[in-house]
Amino acid sequence: MSKPICYSTKAFSAASATSPLSAATIERRQPSASDVQIQILYCGVCHSDLHFARNEWHFTQYPAVPGHEIVGRVTAVGSGVKKFKVGDTVGVGCLVDSCRTCSDCRAGLEQFCTSMVMTYGSIDPHLNAPTLGGYSQSIVVTEDFVLRMPANLNLAAAAPLLCAGITTYSPLRHWKVGPGQKVGIVGLGGLGHMGVKFAKAFGAHVVLFTTSPGKVADGKRLGAHEVVVSTDEAQMAAQAGSFDFILDAVSASHDINAYLNLLKRDGNLTLVGAPEKPLPVAAFPLIFRRRSFSGSLIGGLPETQEMLDFCGRHNITSDIEMIRMDQINTAYERMLKSDVKYRFVIDMASLA
Ligand code: NAP
Ligand code: ZN
Ligand code: ZN
Repeated sequence: MSKPICYSTKAFSAASATSPLSAATIERRQPSASDVQIQILYCGVCHSDLHFARNEWHFTQYPAVPGHEIVGRVTAVGSGVKKFKVGDTVGVGCLVDSCRTCSDCRAGLEQFCTSMVMTYGSIDPHLNAPTLGGYSQSIVVTEDFVLRMPANLNLAAAAPLLCAGITTYSPLRHWKVGPGQKVGIVGLGGLGHMGVKFAKAFGAHVVLFTTSPGKVADGKRLGAHEVVVSTDEAQMAAQAGSFDFILDAVSASHDINAYLNLLKRDGNLTLVGAPEKPLPVAAFPLIFRRRSFSGSLIGGLPETQEMLDFCGRHNITSDIEMIRMDQINTAYERMLKSDVKYRFVIDMASLA
C-alpha cells in the first residue's frame, strides 16, 4: 500500500523518556473516503499520557505525542462519510481503529481486539509509523471511531469523558452498580472523580478513599456519601467486609490487599489504574470470602457513545483546570503530586 498524501500540523511531543515535551511539527494523512478530519479544540491530560511519555510501560516509540481525550470540530469529511459533516462537534478517545471482524469487535468491545489501534502507542496502519495523539491541532480518524458530543455539555469539560469517563463508566456498568450497593472509589484524580460522579448517578452508596486529607470536602461535593482517608488505619478498619464493589483508579504502587479486605463475600475489586510496577496480591483476602480481583480497559465505541449520551442527559462533565499547551510539563509534575482538581485540559488554541 502506498503512503497516503499528508499535511503538517503543530503538536507537542517528547523526544525521549527523560525529555520534557516541546513544540513539534507532525504529519497527518489527508482524509480518505471514510475519514473525518478534526480541528482539536481541547485535549484532556490523562495520567496514561505521563506513563507513556516517560516510557513507564516500556513500549513508547519516540518522538511521542500523547493525548487521548480529544474534542474538536469537523473540518473535512471523506466522500463516503455518513455520520458527520463539517462543523459538527465530535470526540475521539483512546482508539482510532480495530480489525472490525473479530468476536470482540462484533460485540462492540473494540478495546479488546488484538489488532486495535490506539490513538497513541500503536503503529498506524495507514502511515506504518507510530500513532500520534491529541496534543496537536488536527487529527484524521476513520468515522466509525469518532463520537458525537452532546450539544448541551461544555466541550472543554467534556473532553475527559473520552478516557476518564468511559474507563470508570464501563466497569461500573459491567458489575451492575446500582441502588442498594455500597461502592468504593479509590483515588480522587481524573478517573476517580468521574467514578464518584457515575457511581452516585447510578444510585449506589458511594465511599471515596483518598490519601489526601485536603480532598475530603471535594469528595463529598462531587457526590461521595462518605470519604475515608486511607492512611488512617482506624477509618479503614471501620469499613472492613462491607463493600459490594470497589473501583481502584490509583496511578502508583499501593497496597491492594487493604482494599480486598473491605469487600463482602463475593465482592469484586476492579483495577483500572495502571501503575508502572506489579501490585502484590495476597491469597487470603481473596480465598476467605470468594472475593474477586479484576481489571478493565476503557470501553468500546458503542458504550463510549452511550456514556456520552448519559452524560448529556444527566449533565455530567469533568471538573477541569484549563492549561496552555506550554504548561504541560508543569501539569505532569503536579499530577505526580496528586495535585489535580480534577483533570487538566489543554486549550489547543494555545498551540497556534
Ligand atoms: P491522576 O489524575 O493522577 O489520579 C491518580 C490518583 O491516585 C491521585 O490523584 C491520588 O488520589 C491517587 N494516588 C496517586 N499516587 C498514589 C499513591 N502512591 N498511593 C495511593 N494513592 C495514590 O490519574 P488518572 O488520570 O486518574 O489515572 C489513574 C490511573 O489509571 C493511571 O495509572 C492511568 O494510567 C490509568 N488509566 C487506566 C485506564 C484503563 O483503561 N484501565 C484508562 C485511563 C487511565 P488521592 O489524592 O485521592 O489519594
Ligand atoms: Zn487515558
Ligand atoms: Zn477486532
